[in-house]
Amino acid sequence: MIDDHGNFDTLFRHALIVDGTGAPARIGDVATSGDRIAAIGDLAGAQARQNIEADGLVLSPGFIDAHTHDDALVLGGSAMEPKVSQGVTTVVTGNCGISLAPLVLDSSPPAPLDLLGDREGYRYARFADYLAEIEANPPAGNVAPMVGHTTLRVATMDSLDRAATPDEIRAMSRLLEESLQAGAIGFSTGLYYPLARAAPTEEVIDLLSLVSRFGAIYTTHMRDEEDGVELSLLESFDAAKRGRVPLVISHHKCMGSENHGRSVSTLNLIDEARTRQAVGLDAYPYVAGSTVLMDAMVRKSSRVLIAWSKPHPEIRGRDLSDIALQWDCSVNDAIERLSPAGAIYFHMSDEDVHRILAHPATMIGSDGLPHDEHPHPRLWGAFPRVLGHCVRDLNLFPLEEAVRKMTTLPATTFKLKNRGCIAVGNFADLVLFDPTAIADTATFEAPRQRAAGIRAVFVNGKTAAIDGVVEQARSGRVLRRAA
Ligand SMILES: [Zn+2]
Repeated sequence: MIDDHGNFDTLFRHALIVDGTGAPARIGDVATSGDRIAAIGDLAGAQARQNIEADGLVLSPGFIDAHTHDDALVLGGSAMEPKVSQGVTTVVTGNCGISLAPLVLDSSPPAPLDLLGDREGYRYARFADYLAEIEANPPAGNVAPMVGHTTLRVATMDSLDRAATPDEIRAMSRLLEESLQAGAIGFSTGLYYPLARAAPTEEVIDLLSLVSRFGAIYTTHMRDEEDGVELSLLESFDAAKRGRVPLVISHHKCMGSENHGRSVSTLNLIDEARTRQAVGLDAYPYVAGSTVLMDAMVRKSSRVLIAWSKPHPEIRGRDLSDIALQWDCSVNDAIERLSPAGAIYFHMSDEDVHRILAHPATMIGSDGLPHDEHPHPRLWGAFPRVLGHCVRDLNLFPLEEAVRKMTTLPATTFKLKNRGCIAVGNFADLVLFDPTAIADTATFEAPRQRAAGIRAVFVNGKTAAIDGVVEQARSGRVLRRAA
């Protein structure tokens, strides 16, 4: 707060301000008071409790991770180290059809629900209970929660290899309505995965009508990101249009070497759809993806690393083909013996990844999996990799545009009020970084590494991290859907 002498809390002096709108960087001072940005401009005469000389450093809005699986990471007063250390101040959870709530499990979660955690994590009968637990013991960053279709299916159906009956759709709708009322900002599907694959488009549309009534958003891990990627885009546009909801295509990619180059046609389809309806997309800056171990995805990949394995935890980080060789068995047999497991799949091309990242509607989403023992490096490095590798090394787009993809674009898309932009009155979610040094250091071999070049991170006006080290403050909040 401003004290009796008119002082600010924190004053960044001579920062290179990149405000998140895409406007050119400009040198200036930024002051915070309480949880808000209080003043911007030439504040030479102003006083503050904490002065930060920011010469040569970029001050930008805190990054919003548009696509996460941090549902469990944000619990228990979490430091959210993989995220906060790379400048992320808000995470959108509940993607790909999977959310921890509302679901109570008394046995091991079936894949892909096991990506979020073990059985103990699934203990919330109501979405409101999950949000209450986050708020009782807040994390270091903000949480913008979504509810997953697959979670609703598992909560209401006795077998998942078929379409939901009208009664089951009513049961899912009741859970969905409670979640949206509690403040979920959106609804996601993961139609690619076995637990949701049998759901016809009509089942999704039935649920979207409720999402529409609450003014929430729809995100989808599409049915097909390989040979049928264009058809899946059309299905997604159709569902969102008929359900009257804005759409986000999750982690857009063209998987499998025979499909490389198809991003030209998929982005054309997205552009065409955007003339008729609200469509956004997110992507991460790597040619490898990661999810549960599945033979269908192994077949589309040139290389597969094991991220975790329940029966063989010692095998994490190793190549699937080497494991099969060592065990003197077929790759299929190795998959069988390793499962349940998670894997990292090299299945995209640089060209497609760069083309998709450069599209003006593309937000940055890490898609990181914090529960994995040997996670994909995107968990710790996605945002600095865009600012370092993509902007500075490859010159794919200007720094201001990269920051826009991480800040105002997701804030607008997910309707996160008063965030994503450095403006007076907005929440003081801020990142101070060195544009010449910012870089991802996490690799496929050593994935748990803090980014370089992130000097300070502020969440709701409180210092969340200094030089990559997370501070004691746990000033994150649940960002509920704005009424
Ligand atoms: Zn996904």
